[in-house]
Amino acid sequence: MAATEPAPSYLDEKPVAPDADLAPASASTSTKSRAESLAKKGEMLWEKIQETASAFVYLQASLSGRAKCRAGEDCLHFEPDMKQTNKIKDEYRICVYGTNLFPYGNGVLSKYYYHVPCFRSMISQQDLFDSGKFRLSDGKWGLMVRKWYEHQGCVDVDKISAYVRACKAHIAELEKGETQKVFHPGMYPTLGDYTLDAASQELEHILSHDDCMEVQAMVENN
Ligand SMILES: [Zn+2]
Repeated sequence: MAATEPAPSYLDEKPVAPDADLAPASASTSTKSRAESLAKKGEMLWEKIQETASAFVYLQASLSGRAKCRAGEDCLHFEPDMKQTNKIKDEYRICVYGTNLFPYGNGVLSKYYYHVPCFRSMISQQDLFDSGKFRLSDGKWGLMVRKWYEHQGCVDVDKISAYVRACKAHIAELEKGETQKVFHPGMYPTLGDYTLDAASQELEHILSHDDCMEVQAMVENN
């Protein structure tokens, strides 16, 4: 991203562009499944993201819970008889961010938010990784998320989880004074080989894991 375009802030989530869906609903969800509608919206959105140099897709924390999912009536949380059911109350969300991304005139910066499952029904995870358009927003991310991102989803979640728990146990021992605070090889837990050649883990699976956000500050070099 160019230096003139700062990464989206967690706190600045009000869309700059007018509040409108990318595309109007062309058929009711009664005759067309939400999944099909989301996939169709996703095709259009993905085309726009790819042809827009400034456009990026961010995974970020959803701190306020005020942003609305731009999947509109196709949002997996949307209920026609309930107001504001598509507000993003989840811990994490997707932000589509870019200048001239949506048709509101030259130089307009847009920030559109989605539930992770809604967005994942729109655009494939592999397409995101392959494009180089997918980023983690600034902030503290757990080891599992960082490794998942680094290896484009091809990680053994159980191995990372076991390592995270070993690290936490080790930290607890240090704090109780049961282990020397002097490092020597073999004393500290090691992660080992945790990558996979294929079988990419889905983002939703990572984000719902109990150890998703553990070990933020340590073991950066593992
Ligand atoms: Zn949604």
